[in-house]
Amino acid sequence: MKHFSVLFIVLLSFSALCQQKAKTENVILVTIDGYRWQEFFGGPQKKVLRVKKYVHDADKLKSRFEDTDPVKSRAKLMPFMWDVIAKNGQIYGNKTIGNKVTLTNGYKFSFPGYNEILSGWGDHRVNSNDYPDDPNYNIFDFLASKKGFENKLFAVGTWDAFPRIINDKRNHVPVYVNMKADANGGIHIKNVNRPIDFDSWQTHIPAHNPYAKTDTFTYQFAKEYIARYHPRFSFIGFDETDDYAHEGNYDAYLNTANTLDSYMQDLWNFVQGDPQYKDKTTIIITCDHGRGDVPILEWRHHGHVYGAEYIWVAVMGPGISPKGEVMKKMLLHQNQLASTIAALLGYEYKPDHFAGKPIDSILDK
Ligand SMILES: [Zn+2]
Repeated sequence: MKHFSVLFIVLLSFSALCQQKAKTENVILVTIDGYRWQEFFGGPQKKVLRVKKYVHDADKLKSRFEDTDPVKSRAKLMPFMWDVIAKNGQIYGNKTIGNKVTLTNGYKFSFPGYNEILSGWGDHRVNSNDYPDDPNYNIFDFLASKKGFENKLFAVGTWDAFPRIINDKRNHVPVYVNMKADANGGIHIKNVNRPIDFDSWQTHIPAHNPYAKTDTFTYQFAKEYIARYHPRFSFIGFDETDDYAHEGNYDAYLNTANTLDSYMQDLWNFVQGDPQYKDKTTIIITCDHGRGDVPILEWRHHGHVYGAEYIWVAVMGPGISPKGEVMKKMLLHQNQLASTIAALLGYEYKPDHFAGKPIDSILDK
């Protein structure tokens, strides 16, 4: 009997050990600027597709991304999101079923949105895309103060405002825009062992936006940096979806979303094949703002546009239960992301200003 009990206790503790959740040791935060929840959850939208001036090759778009079933359509547009994250992670923000994620800053444009994501506060003072160095303590400042995160923070963005948004002068995080470190904390990657140099790519490819370069370079640079230096918190800010939407180029907007989805798949494949990251890394994908819905012209724009406050969040990683697309009615906020990231890494985010609470549903509380 005695032996049996001992065996029983051993078995119990073994099973308790097995049930212990795998933990997130690294986080990769990805943003897709101004990508609407409408396409995210519903695929290409008929009411935009039928407007000739927004669509160059409707047949091609339809053959690539459209299906009578919006659930299949969205998976054609973003296969990694819907075939992998929706099965192994969690997705929030399908407004049509009452699962809402909104920003709280009220401005519905980029700088205030990224400030809200990273600082956890939709600060009303941060009111312009030309805003100088962001005064708010953010998740980078917070993690920079933690043991084990020294030289393990990294940001790269297509838009040249990210050094000001992250405030790299204050926290010395290497923030790369146009593939160059902006302030003193950075390590400038030169591709000494590779035939292609990122800087020369940037110089020789014309930018379609004077303030933002090309997401493809941003991604390739991010992957190179992450592979070399293994940051524990990385931020990758993509931009082209916003540019193409403003231009009214629905083809390019959708093609960009599809391409960025393939980059995230590629990044995830890399992460899961790398011993320092495998099964220890959580990816969070979201956007800074949405865009308009009604009337139809307003799909292109945001700012003072009704509906542009609705965003979406996708997350996948160790210990995050595979709830898939969360269908429950709920209201989450952009200002909860910074504290959620901290909580995933085992910390309580404590800035010297207001910050939204961690998202319980992601943390399974
Ligand atoms: Zn914009």
